[in-house]
Amino acid sequence: MTTMLESYARVAGEDVVNHLYQLSLPLKGMRVVHVNSTRVGGGVAEILTKLVPLKRELGIQVRWEVITGEADFYTCTKSFHNGLQGTPVSISNTLLNAFEETNARNAEGLRPILEEADVVFIHDPQPVPLLRLCPNRKGKWIWRCHIDVSHPYRPVWKYLRNFVAEYDVSVFSLAAFSQSLPHAQYLIAPSIDPLSEKNIDLPETEVRLVCSRFGLDCDRPVMLQVSRFDRFKDPLGVIEAYRLAKTFVPALQLVLAGGGATDDPEGEAVLAEVQAAGADDPDIHILALPADAHRTINALQRAADIVLQKSLKEGFGLTVTEGMWKGKPVIGGDTGGIRLQVVNHHTGFLVNTPEGAALRIRYLLQHRDRLQEMGEKAKEFVRENFLLTRQLRENLALMLALNYGDEDRIELNTV
Ligand code: UDP
Repeated sequence: MTTMLESYARVAGEDVVNHLYQLSLPLKGMRVVHVNSTRVGGGVAEILTKLVPLKRELGIQVRWEVITGEADFYTCTKSFHNGLQGTPVSISNTLLNAFEETNARNAEGLRPILEEADVVFIHDPQPVPLLRLCPNRKGKWIWRCHIDVSHPYRPVWKYLRNFVAEYDVSVFSLAAFSQSLPHAQYLIAPSIDPLSEKNIDLPETEVRLVCSRFGLDCDRPVMLQVSRFDRFKDPLGVIEAYRLAKTFVPALQLVLAGGGATDDPEGEAVLAEVQAAGADDPDIHILALPADAHRTINALQRAADIVLQKSLKEGFGLTVTEGMWKGKPVIGGDTGGIRLQVVNHHTGFLVNTPEGAALRIRYLLQHRDRLQEMGEKAKEFVRENFLLTRQLRENLALMLALNYGDEDRIELNTV
């Protein structure tokens, strides 16, 4: 057994890791390519950073390719993202041309790798035209959607569906996100890496040091939301909830920590709005962190009494999983992937308004035994359901199904 997987056995169990070895045997030597549009920032990059080396350790030849473009490309794909999550957006032909031309330009360099690959995972809409640009492809192509597409703005989905429909299969994080498509759709929830800098245990001294670096008083209650500065994460709603809760718990402090992703052009504007909204209160700490501040985020999650993720739409919400793994109850928006993780009243609370969030914050801070109990349940829930080893197992099973499954697979639902 190799070292990296051995260390996962200690957290997830020997059986889990042995199972991974068994599943990977028929896949050894297979050429797999993952393609997305950023190497840092956001959940997809976070997952690939670990999934890719682990697959390599299992003997699979994996590459992670990142497509890049100019400002118009990212403006267009951010509008796709907003549209897929239900916001009516208008996207000009100039932007759509930039989207298709950027993919064509990236395809020039990637075509030999992609056409030779046995399995290609295309993450989210940014690189979705690549399939069409690789006419001599040999392998199976998977569209892996990480976004909450439960109620997309129809014109955006109609445009993107043309590309997606040509894939062999799609993978969504939640059943509620599935779409009418002419191919099989699979369900794989994301996961966190318990051994990454973001999630490993930290000494109490380090947690306190990080708090003092940001002027936080560890002896007073802290509520925390970690997120890209994105309107769907509702940072202004979090500030409102904090203000309401503070009338009952005057010692309360709020930390909104986040950074940008290289493929997210709206971050700076949203950060400015959040800074303006929180400027009058020294107990509101708005931290714009560098992309590699994983250990700092880990420490902040450990320092927090309560973790919030008050998103209005959320594909999954790795920040929820990360908070729960640190034994914190999470108060999360009643939406998308948060519903998979926050079992209402057990691992946290689902809320729809700042008022609802404030009530739950107040309740937890005034009932410390419940806070502790819910935090412990949250951690176990993550151990059972949302560790990287589970996602890796499901990825391997999918690759097996695609390459060897025809004779054995029973189709329960063909759209
Ligand atoms: N993250 C980070 N730095 C930041 C903001 C977020 O490292 O400034 C990480 C966060 O810890 C999580 C991921 O980025 O691992 C965000 O994933 P999530 O699914 O919560 O949201 P997304 O950004 O994909 O919408």
